[in-house]
Amino acid sequence: MTSAVSRRGFINTAGVAASVCAVGAGPRQAPARVISSGNGAAATERAYQLLLEGADTADAVVAGVGLVEDDPRDTSVGYGGLPNEHGIVELDAAVMHGPSHQCGAVASLQGFRHPAQVALKVMRRTDHVLLVGSGARKFARAHGFVEENLLTDHARRIWLRWKESLSKEDDWLSDEEQEDAAVRDFFLKNSVMTANGSLRFRRPTGTIHCSCLNAAGQMSCTTTTSGMAFKIPGRVGDSPIIGAGLYVDNEVGSCGSTGRGEANLQNQASFAAVELMRGGASPEEAGMEVLRRIAAKTVARLRDQEGRPDFQLSFYVMSKDGEYAGVSMFPGLKFAVTDEQGTRLEPCVALYEAR
Ligand code: ASP
Repeated sequence: MTSAVSRRGFINTAGVAASVCAVGAGPRQAPARVISSGNGAAATERAYQLLLEGADTADAVVAGVGLVEDDPRDTSVGYGGLPNEHGIVELDAAVMHGPSHQCGAVASLQGFRHPAQVALKVMRRTDHVLLVGSGARKFARAHGFVEENLLTDHARRIWLRWKESLSKEDDWLSDEEQEDAAVRDFFLKNSVMTANGSLRFRRPTGTIHCSCLNAAGQMSCTTTTSGMAFKIPGRVGDSPIIGAGLYVDNEVGSCGSTGRGEANLQNQASFAAVELMRGGASPEEAGMEVLRRIAAKTVARLRDQEGRPDFQLSFYVMSKDGEYAGVSMFPGLKFAVTDEQGTRLEPCVALYEAR
């Protein structure tokens, strides 16, 4: 995808069109643009609206993803996110502010639904970049964030079903007859047919990344997630790690990611994409090159029968000029864009054909 406007997958222009009209007589707003992972259409729309109202770019993206952190239907982010293997929701998030090149992050944060807001506080109200675990929790409390149980009943049931089906040798027994339809659908949706005809559950991935550019050429980005479902407690993914799950250089561009975080940690993937753009690559070329590098370094254990990585990974990349792309290891993903043309979902360009 390039910055050429695609009408395909168009969702809703009404709100944004009204805002553009409202500022039509003022300074030119054309370059402003917000992109995110496919679960972020509400987030890009909100962030774009805030940019038009003159909000700081970091505030805009953090407020945008806050809508998704609040949404219990998204089991990969914030409230309602899938828990770790002990049934406890642990969130990771980071924010990076292009104009000041400052950043803040939290990892393994329990009990607060808006880790991106806590990360923003780390950036603005500490001399540090990353707070983890109980330290991050105490910091959030100190700043008046409200503590709550983030595990929804839906997420708990999914976790329990996963736990009960791990082994026939342990003491946890499942009751498939009593299982609710939503949980069954979730497992079916996240299962693949194996060569011997049985269904294999693939742990779902998710996360939201959001990058923005305002009319003054300022960029910021954020990534927020509940991380890999059923992870080992304390496991930290790429999302709160600057350079891995997100990176912005105000003079070059921004990149963020969703998917298998370990691959991004091993390859400093978001930093690499921005550096490739600094060297002249377009957002799409930069994202595809990072995917190729990751594919080349993937260990045998994580390759499919054709030698391809067996995981999904995607990048949302935008240059300082507003050119943008969504790229992914495999097809089927979309990403969200809001600009003067409205809000829409566009398909990610994939490195490989369908699995
Ligand atoms: N990147 C996230 C992580 O590894 C998960 C995801 O995007 O699905 O924690």
